[in-house]
Amino acid sequence: MCEKNDIELSIIVPVYNESETITLFHERLITVLEQLSKSFEIIYINDGSSDTTLEILINLYVFDKHIKIINLSRNFGKEKALTAGIDYSSGQGIIPIDADLQDPPEVIIELVKKWEEGYDIVNAKRITRKGDSFIKKITARLFYKVIRSFSKMDIPDNTGDFRLIDRKAAEALKRLREYHRFMKGLFSWIGFKQTTVLYERAPRYAGKTKWNYLSLLNFAIDGITSFSHVPLRISSLIGVIVSLISFGFGIYFVFCILISGNQMPGYSTLIIIISFLCGVLLMTNGIMGEYIGRIYNETKHRDLYIVRDIFDAEADADAENDTTKVYSGNLNNTVLRK
Ligand code: UDP
Ligand code: MG
Repeated sequence: MCEKNDIELSIIVPVYNESETITLFHERLITVLEQLSKSFEIIYINDGSSDTTLEILINLYVFDKHIKIINLSRNFGKEKALTAGIDYSSGQGIIPIDADLQDPPEVIIELVKKWEEGYDIVNAKRITRKGDSFIKKITARLFYKVIRSFSKMDIPDNTGDFRLIDRKAAEALKRLREYHRFMKGLFSWIGFKQTTVLYERAPRYAGKTKWNYLSLLNFAIDGITSFSHVPLRISSLIGVIVSLISFGFGIYFVFCILISGNQMPGYSTLIIIISFLCGVLLMTNGIMGEYIGRIYNETKHRDLYIVRDIFDAEADADAENDTTKVYSGNLNNTVLRK
């Protein structure tokens, strides 16, 4: 990919069915970026939207030379869309931001200030989670507690993907090509000099969140299993504890028989113990299965995302014979399409 060092800031915006918000978002973003007097590019990653998002983006692109559009071949999910954006960015500072105006573009000014003080990653931490339900707030807090203690990594809570990443940190991130991508964890894992800026998270401007409780649960399991083996240990530990309890029961029953001389009438006890043990076995199998499933997915080495089209006026002008780059998400696999 071409590295254009004259671009100072790359703004990365994954978009999935955001037709109601995208124009207003772009206006607000441009107003902020123009105050900064830095050269910039805005990379919109269309993550398989099924509404008019792409058409609106193309209309914006025609009039604004700062815009690039990476149109993915289908919906790959936000984490992969973000990865595509980082792969294609060429700025010295990279800012992933949501298109629904929950991450206010005005905070970018603060992020840049901290970056100029010498920090490599400036995280944006929400003071409030306006618009999130009570259950979402509680489960989010619990999730961060669990993942921090399991992974021994300082993954900041109430911090989404909105942050500023210096080019050197982004290059480190680009080398992590794991399929199950828990970006917040990866941002922490790479280390570097990090700091935090606080901001008020706004409610979604329009449209609906793409998350439901099932996808959030999957996301949480992805996060925990990507960064920790503790669940496997816990399942072994449960195995040991249950075996010890059964052993204890065994001795107790033998004594009872020796003392009373009778068989114990224990039909219901038996049912309870068997179903309890089956539950424990299934649960530990399930935990193991989570890890095996992930190993299976990682060993396939599939591309993280597939690009259908790229709209990049500058690259088009540079390209000879009207060739456009087609990129498959595998860093070594860039091909040219006529
Ligand atoms: N998004 C995406 N692909 C998806 C889901 C979401 O690119 O499969 C984008 C979405 O358009 C938005 C950002 O990711 O710009 C955050 O999504 P959302 O608001 O649904 O998440 P939440 O803010 O509720 O965590
Ligand atoms: Mg949102």
